[in-house]
Amino acid sequence: MNSAASSSDASGGNLSSILSSGNRDFLISPSGDKVSVEELEGKTIGLYFGANWYAKCEKFNLLLAEVYLKLKEQGAGFEVVFVSCDEDQSSFEQFHGTMPWVAIPFADLQSKKFLNQRYGIEGIPSLVILSPTGQLLQTEGVELIHHYGSRAFPFTPTRISELVAEEKADHDSQTLEKLLATTGRDFVIDHGKEVPISNFVGKTIGLLFSAQSYPPCAKFTSRLASIYKNLKEKHDRFEIVFVSVDKDESSYSQCFSEMPWIALPYNMESTKLLSRYFNIQGIPALVIIGPDGKTLTKEGRNLINLYMEMAYPFTEERLKLLREKMDEEAKSYPRSLSHEGHRHALNLVSENSGGGPYICCECEEQGFGWAYQCLRCGYEIHRKCVREVEENGSLG
Ligand SMILES: [Zn+2]
Ligand SMILES: [Zn+2]
Repeated sequence: MNSAASSSDASGGNLSSILSSGNRDFLISPSGDKVSVEELEGKTIGLYFGANWYAKCEKFNLLLAEVYLKLKEQGAGFEVVFVSCDEDQSSFEQFHGTMPWVAIPFADLQSKKFLNQRYGIEGIPSLVILSPTGQLLQTEGVELIHHYGSRAFPFTPTRISELVAEEKADHDSQTLEKLLATTGRDFVIDHGKEVPISNFVGKTIGLLFSAQSYPPCAKFTSRLASIYKNLKEKHDRFEIVFVSVDKDESSYSQCFSEMPWIALPYNMESTKLLSRYFNIQGIPALVIIGPDGKTLTKEGRNLINLYMEMAYPFTEERLKLLREKMDEEAKSYPRSLSHEGHRHALNLVSENSGGGPYICCECEEQGFGWAYQCLRCGYEIHRKCVREVEENGSLG
């Protein structure tokens, strides 16, 4: 994540020569007015590559605007320059109109092309951070904003190392109470009752980041509920805490009413803090906290999908054992087979033989470890999701 400037030729340069071109020495405000490039001198610049047709950009836009306005309020010298990848002038104007910062004029195709090439932009949204003198500071601005918010400013390698060190210290001194208690609240909610967080110290805890309106969450939650029920019958030392990513309190209540476990009270601020702390990139996510209050794994969702309740207690030793068992079992799996749901033959792959993490094309859940993959079109499924076509052509 900390990708400081390298010795590439994009590492240096003078800010105004980067932001202006031939006869253009101005940028465009959201309302269409000209803003002199000189006005940005002395500031740290975020070059923001994005487009209105891409939902990820719209989402990042909101976050970046929040950070931008906060830094403005603090008087930090930070400016954002939008480099549009929109398809036409009207999409550009519409999208730029939702932003509080300036843009390279849409018609200046040459400048936009130059900036894309200079910083090797491969996908959007992308945020490249330049120092006040035009030096390249960071290419992974999107991640830094997601992870640290306005605290990332001024985005220098020194600042980022400080944040990494702080974060490490926070994680090293992590306790369940520190994680779950915010602003003096020392309880969690058990369907109407307040229960002290201290009741759960010493247990293995799953923090479930989820939201009602998102279908993958509903799907995972129902699977997790049956596993939870089985686990609770055998182990009293396990609990799940719902951390709501719902848009409003009524969705939260609706969502929680269908869950058999406990929850944090609805509070977007603490959800944001926790998401940032664990660097949650998508939901549903399941973070497992060990009995000592330290994080065991952030891969709870994958582990549940792969091993079901056998994953408990999610310790390194347990997972190693399960991996070994699975590798042993895999020796008897067919190297290739025909699956009812795909017209090409599928090959057995493991993490070390081209498998890696994937989304199962059958059940649409994440997976890793052993899987069946089509080498021709990348179709990949869990072993458990295979419906084999038998030799004689009938369905298995
Ligand atoms: Zn599957
Ligand atoms: Zn195929």
